[in-house]
Amino acid sequence: MGHHGDCIFCGIVSGALPCFKVCEDDRTLAFMDLFPVAEGHTLIIPKRHATDLFGMDSETLSAVSATSLRVAAAIRATLAPDGLGVFQLNGAAAGQTVFHYHMHLLPRNEGVPFALHSRVRGDDDALRRTAERLAGALP
Ligand code: 5GP
Ligand code: ZN
Repeated sequence: MGHHGDCIFCGIVSGALPCFKVCEDDRTLAFMDLFPVAEGHTLIIPKRHATDLFGMDSETLSAVSATSLRVAAAIRATLAPDGLGVFQLNGAAAGQTVFHYHMHLLPRNEGVPFALHSRVRGDDDALRRTAERLAGALP
């Protein structure tokens, strides 16, 4: 479960690197994407390092899905977006940029062009506030 090389998400799990946390359990951690494509853009990761889907087992995948379901409910309750994208990229050719398995929850609103990534770092106060709102609305 510990730090895997210089993996940034393992660094977040171990506490060596900061994050704006929404929730965690034994197996998973949910936190705000630092370069959000929309307000509420959240990542859910397994605490134990897996590079991508091919390194996952079904139990861990189920745990990530269960956390995703809770966070999705909190996003709907607080931000009420028109839609919600759930996506997950495997391999650089698929657009993966951080090589520790993660599920994206991406609030979507009518009229906003679709994008998977942003180069604009989120504002710390805004990210913290959103993480707190989501944490307070978890089922
Ligand atoms: P991928 O392209 O691998 O599916 O997504 C990686 C995501 O991680 C991107 O959306 C990117 O904005 C986000 N990200 C990159 N570095 C960090 C970081 O240090 N902290 C957090 N919270 N998110 C990050
Ligand atoms: Zn890792």
